[in-house]
Amino acid sequence: MRLYYEALEIVDMNETGEFIRADITDMTDKEKEDTLQAIKDVMSGKEYRLTEHICGHDEGKGCEMKEI
Ligand SMILES: [Zn+2]
Repeated sequence: MRLYYEALEIVDMNETGEFIRADITDMTDKEKEDTLQAIKDVMSGKEYRLTEHICGHDEGKGCEMKEI
């Protein structure tokens, strides 16, 4: 099962928002924390939604999205 942090910028319907996905599957807690901070830095000043994506694709299962 793979884990991702995802950030999606919230924009008007006719605009394309910025999207970031970071693979955190094999990361330590410290690395995850740094990754999350890096995402926040990139998205700073924007309105966005941050989710943890627990991906079941490889196992043929569904995905779980948790808002952070
Ligand atoms: Zn998935």
